[in-house]
Amino acid sequence: MAALRVTEIFRSLQGESRSVGWPTVFVRLTGCPLRCVYCDTAYAFSGGERLELAAILEQVAAHGVRHVCVTGGEPLAQPACLELLEGLVAAGYEVSLETSGALDVAQVHPQVVKVLDLKTPGSGEAARNLYANLDHLDAKDQVKFVIADEADYAWAKAKLAEYRLPERCEVLFSPVAGVQNPTELAEKILRDRLDVRFQLQLHKLLWGDQPGV
Ligand code: SF4
Repeated sequence: MAALRVTEIFRSLQGESRSVGWPTVFVRLTGCPLRCVYCDTAYAFSGGERLELAAILEQVAAHGVRHVCVTGGEPLAQPACLELLEGLVAAGYEVSLETSGALDVAQVHPQVVKVLDLKTPGSGEAARNLYANLDHLDAKDQVKFVIADEADYAWAKAKLAEYRLPERCEVLFSPVAGVQNPTELAEKILRDRLDVRFQLQLHKLLWGDQPGV
């Protein structure tokens, strides 16, 4: 049976994406091949506990909520993540996947909501974007830009037009916490009438920047 290295499984409110505010079980898989400068989950780069798929499903079920988010690190860095997603869908959960956008999403179960980053220059990892992933997104999915500064904003705006992103799926713009002034970003979106959803990380507003929330 498949097994995965898991950093943590916990229940919180979904802090981002279109599912923001729903009680959600997070399955945080260990490992990430990227090193974004603003990463807030570096504790998931290594360590973790190796768990059989059945044990993960059992822990998720114990929380008794409908929404499950598989995140990381970069969850797709472990190939068995695909099996986990299938198992969660088969068990009847509303499943989402948070991914860096650097790994192929073609084999992700079609019922899984993909929340895919396009890494901006300010992340230091823009060269890792796999643009072919955009062809695997549909209306239920979301592309997320985490914006550090004016250069990132201009870059994201150009990508919106180049890939006609708002026609493919929902687009999310978030400020890098503690770096990009959120009000200024909101005002730019309004000024430019961008067809994107502005968001702040709800869990950080409620509980601050700490693991397991
Ligand atoms: S992809 Fe996510 S987990 Fe990996 S370094 Fe970037 S922010 Fe951190």
